[in-house]
Amino acid sequence: MVNNADETIKVIKRQIESYSTELDFSEAGTVIRVGDGIARVHGLQNAMSGELLEFSNGTQGMALNLDEDSIGVVIMGSDVGIKEGDPVKLTGRMTEVPVGDGLLGRIVNALGEPIDDKGPIEADGYRPVENPAPSVISRRAVTQPLQTGIKAIDALVPIGKGQRELIIGDRQTGKTAIAIDTILNQKGEDVYCVYVAIGQKASTVARIIKVLNDTGAMDYTTVVLSTANEAAPLQYIAPYAGCAIAEEWMYKGKDVLIIYDDLSKHAVSYRAISLLLGRPPGREAYPGDVFYLHSRLLERAACMSEEYGGGTLTALPIVETQEGDISAYIPTNIISITDGQIYLETDLFNNGIRPAINPGLSVSRVGGSAQIPAMKEIAGPLRIEYAQYKELAAFSQFGSDLNEDTINRLNHGERIMEVLKQSQYRPISVENQILILYALSNKYMEDIENKYIRRFQNDLIHYIDENAEHIKEEIKKSGKISKELAQNIDKMIIEVKENCSYI
Ligand code: ATP
Ligand code: MG
Repeated sequence: MVNNADETIKVIKRQIESYSTELDFSEAGTVIRVGDGIARVHGLQNAMSGELLEFSNGTQGMALNLDEDSIGVVIMGSDVGIKEGDPVKLTGRMTEVPVGDGLLGRIVNALGEPIDDKGPIEADGYRPVENPAPSVISRRAVTQPLQTGIKAIDALVPIGKGQRELIIGDRQTGKTAIAIDTILNQKGEDVYCVYVAIGQKASTVARIIKVLNDTGAMDYTTVVLSTANEAAPLQYIAPYAGCAIAEEWMYKGKDVLIIYDDLSKHAVSYRAISLLLGRPPGREAYPGDVFYLHSRLLERAACMSEEYGGGTLTALPIVETQEGDISAYIPTNIISITDGQIYLETDLFNNGIRPAINPGLSVSRVGGSAQIPAMKEIAGPLRIEYAQYKELAAFSQFGSDLNEDTINRLNHGERIMEVLKQSQYRPISVENQILILYALSNKYMEDIENKYIRRFQNDLIHYIDENAEHIKEEIKKSGKISKELAQNIDKMIIEVKENCSYI
């Protein structure tokens, strides 16, 4: 371990001299090897796992491997300027980030330092990035919906406040788009958002931040950023730092949404650190504790019971697959940790079905209990009708003489497909979604050509906005569609259809 006899003697002497039973945070160690963002440090017997250390040039590090005669430290930043023999100090603190309302609208790095030009952060305090998840006792069941504003999700794979729903798919299938639309839809909903970008290109993140700024979503959002060119340790702690920021609000009783974009890159950065620290590689060269890496992060999402403040933390982790392979190591791990997944497919995306959600492979284990009753009632049959359509469509390719029932089902299925399409940055309120899906499931769209379905949806919403605003208010207030209300809606839909030139 130690390079020469002099150094060995020095180290032993210092060990004897500094022997005491008391903890001493000013204790100094010596760098004995440095490179690739990792330092081996000798002489810090009292270092805690995860403790923050300081190198003589001010760079910080985190103690990860506590071996018998030295410790492995990951350097948070550049290792340039750190030499063999440099002193290293213990700080007695775990890695922490600033938290509080001062972080809203801010962009910070993985250490919680501001990287926008808005000056220092006015923090309410600090929280350790690693924190135990809330216990079973302090939780309650997930019952309130977190509206994403995306019809295909809110109707078919509803997400509840406090749930963990994975967004999974190949590259460029619209994963980030779903997450960002969900943030945009929280406007005026009193939900704080944290967007954690891990290992992404700076240009991609710049584009996302611009959208958040332009739409006013930054007012209730914090961005935690660790781009691809940053050291692996920073990418490794970024999600935990984001989670600590979100947790502060959750424990204060707020509803919070956090997005980890994406955990595949997080796992890769952790693999790099582990290999450099000399930990033994396992499947796909990931270290043995890669499951724990993500489970301890995602378990921190919770729906707290009333006695514990009643706050919620909803997590939407994103995972990128290779060629749709959801049985790879990281995807299977995270699928088993989360409460369901939204599965996106390249084929659907390329065929113009956007969002490219595959309703067959997407599930939400919280399901209908996180939907308002009106939505639950309308969306329930939709899933089955859609599945039946898929089956029939594949089957009917071979036959030409189809009976009327089959033709009707195919027709209806096509309308469902069309209605579930939605542009990016256009979240739709739950009342509007209910009205559209009501028209769909009551077969009001069967005689409208596919290419006009989108237009009809807009016309319907517009018409109801202008002529019968009370309908939406009633849905919002009661969460149900009563008999009279249904009659009222029927009337509106028929009026819209009469006035349409394209039907
Ligand atoms: P990456 O793997 O690079 O992170 P991604 O899966 O996050 O990609 P996005 O960046 O969200 O995918 O989207 C890919 C492209 O598809 C973008 O150009 C985006 O504008 C477009 N896109 C996403 N969703 C939709 C949609 N609903 N309608 C139209 N275009 C969309
Ligand atoms: Mg993306």
